[in-house]
Amino acid sequence: MIYVDNAATTKVSGAAMDAMQRCMEKNWGNPSSLYGLGQRAAEAVEDARERIARCIGASAREIIFTSGGSEADNQAIRSAAMLGAGKRKKHIISTAFEHHAVLHTLKRLEDEGFEVELLPVGALGTVSAQQVAEAIREDTALVTVMYANNEIGSVLPVSEIGAVCRERKVVFHTDAVQATGHIPIDVQAQNIDMLSLSAHKFHGPKGIGALYVRQGIPLTSLIEGGAQERGRRAGTENVPAIVGMAAALEEACAHMEENAVKVSALRDRLTEGLSRIPHAALNGDPVNRLPGNVSFCFEGIEGESLLLLLDDRGICASSGSACTSGSLDPSHVLLAVGRPHEVAHGSLRLSLCEENTASDVDAILKAVPEIVDYLRNMSPLWKDKVCGKKKFVL
Ligand SMILES: *Cc1c(COP(=O)(O)O)cnc(C)c1O
Repeated sequence: MIYVDNAATTKVSGAAMDAMQRCMEKNWGNPSSLYGLGQRAAEAVEDARERIARCIGASAREIIFTSGGSEADNQAIRSAAMLGAGKRKKHIISTAFEHHAVLHTLKRLEDEGFEVELLPVGALGTVSAQQVAEAIREDTALVTVMYANNEIGSVLPVSEIGAVCRERKVVFHTDAVQATGHIPIDVQAQNIDMLSLSAHKFHGPKGIGALYVRQGIPLTSLIEGGAQERGRRAGTENVPAIVGMAAALEEACAHMEENAVKVSALRDRLTEGLSRIPHAALNGDPVNRLPGNVSFCFEGIEGESLLLLLDDRGICASSGSACTSGSLDPSHVLLAVGRPHEVAHGSLRLSLCEENTASDVDAILKAVPEIVDYLRNMSPLWKDKVCGKKKFVL
């Protein structure tokens, strides 16, 4: 099997698995219990908090554990919105191509009376700090801009946006779920006030994530109950997952540079090979890009058919055009970068990790052109284009 869908999820690393197993065998107590067994679990949680904080330049007090990236996004945005509303600030700035965990939270806030402004992301899939600066108003409560896009891999100028927000005294949140463990992050140096991360995107377990919140920014609880996480997130801590997340993130950060060099070399070979397919185009920023992301649109095919035929050959990939809740709407990300509907339907996302090999790339570069050809030859629309009755888009 060739797994090239690491933006969807990753395989749990050996280090994370070992740490989790040891934790479940030894530290299975409730961290809120006063006896030794519970206190050892509490220590494991605090040790993990400290190690995770260190990986992103934060302090341990600034990390709270959540059930994943979605919850971290929800809590960050809702907290900043409530904080703003208390000061009569109800304007929120974001981008058109955020993850749905962000976009749907913003939609809900809009229904509750907030004004949401989604900045356009241009053909490369990015926003500039200047765009953000021009959008900030007296009543802006929050800027939330993703660190790197999960579909097309573009990496945004977070440091510059952070500097603008700090100067204008606006809270800055970034969904760094695709970036954490893959490219360097320093919340202090980059003036980030809130940051979401998720373990299963860097070889940790699913269902666990964290929200970094700069000291002094109050958080609104989404889940009411006990006093865990200093009253900011109720519920008994998922101790093994927290410990596994710390092990995975430390490992990812320790090998970040060598992994990026290896993975980006594979990415560049794939990109070059797929670019040779006629009427195909790379999505996203060719330069400021995640090391592992390859995203293409192929005119004249359906992405879903391509995925099924790739699966037949043992290749696990994604269209990037996740058909939201069964509807056949094309990806909002591809539409945001200006791909017409017809082309947005023919997308392919390959997301690599350090376990991929040159022979994986060879196999993909053999399979994709053959399948694209096969699908095009079956398409009446494609025949019309070839004989000139309809125009090519790409
Ligand atoms: C995966 C992902 C999320 C959601 O994280 P979960 O842990 O799966 O809830 C949010 N944002 C981005 C950019 C993602 O890639």
